[in-house]
Amino acid sequence: NAKSRGRNCLQFFNQQIQKDAERHAELYLHLKSALSHNEFELYYQPIVNPFSGQIIKAEVLLRWIHDGQFISPDEFIPIAEESGLIVQIGEWVRTQALTSIIALQKSGYAIPFAINVSTIEFWTSDLQQRFLNYFDNISEALGGEIPYQLITLEITESLMMKQQSSISQLLTELRHRGMQISVDDFGTGYSSLSYLANFPVDQVKIDKSFIQKISLGARHEALIEAIVSMSRALDLSIVAEGVETEVELNFIKKQNIEAVQGYYFYKPMPKNDFFDLLAKQSRIF
Ligand code: C2E
Ligand code: MG
Ligand code: MG
Ligand code: MG
Repeated sequence: NAKSRGRNCLQFFNQQIQKDAERHAELYLHLKSALSHNEFELYYQPIVNPFSGQIIKAEVLLRWIHDGQFISPDEFIPIAEESGLIVQIGEWVRTQALTSIIALQKSGYAIPFAINVSTIEFWTSDLQQRFLNYFDNISEALGGEIPYQLITLEITESLMMKQQSSISQLLTELRHRGMQISVDDFGTGYSSLSYLANFPVDQVKIDKSFIQKISLGARHEALIEAIVSMSRALDLSIVAEGVETEVELNFIKKQNIEAVQGYYFYKPMPKNDFFDLLAKQSRIF
């Protein structure tokens, strides 16, 4: 009967909640030692010119391999954020990425990297200061100048929503050094257009959820067109994320969007594969 069905259902939900909590607690426990156990690796996903296919940049994407299993960043990044571990993890990511940028530069490839930054890394004025100090300290450790002009930092709309003048000041300082600021997953948060106009950013990255709806009709396409014309009016460059099909690519080209990222061209790949790919491309272009 309905009553016992209801009871079963509730029992099912309780069990699910319990299971989720256990998984969360277990991941947190292992995440704490992931850095010291060398369980992280960076993958690189090329960002290309949609017309020529030439690689113009790469996004650095963190991978956690625990007990031989890949754990998705969508699962562990939130745990790293809640626990504050993201601060150390973020610095590790930047050090690895910078080391690669410099190695590639020495081999003759000046390829810019896009690096994700969590809003938590800018949460307090101490963390904001730490973010800046990191670059000063690391330039000594890496033995030279940091090629700031090859770094794009990907932030999210949640950072703009904090509306803190110290965050704007920090981003302004980072841009002053030569880094670019990109707003990742654009359109999925709750940010208002006025934030975008007043915030010191260079680029908008159209979220893949918009791109995946391109074939669903004119109303979905109109949304992308609106993001594009607004970005142009604000003098922001545009990247389209998650381009998987030819239909999507053709629409992006029609909009004259200058940069695309997605499985249609490349999936994220390990460092060696990415370095090989760059070498191969340099023989073509
Ligand atoms: P994101 O920054 O928006 O990165 C793009 C995500 O879309 C990546 O997922 C990428 O693999 C995926 N993607 C790219 N092209 C396609 C496509 O054509 N189709 C589909 N279905 N997916 C595509 P990934 O690597 O799983 O990362 C998920 C999220 O985790 C990232 O989203 C970012 O928010 C976060 N993340 C990854 N690495 C870091 C990091 O080093 N630091 C921080 N704070 N967050 C990171
Ligand atoms: Mg990103
Ligand atoms: Mg994104
Ligand atoms: Mg995303």
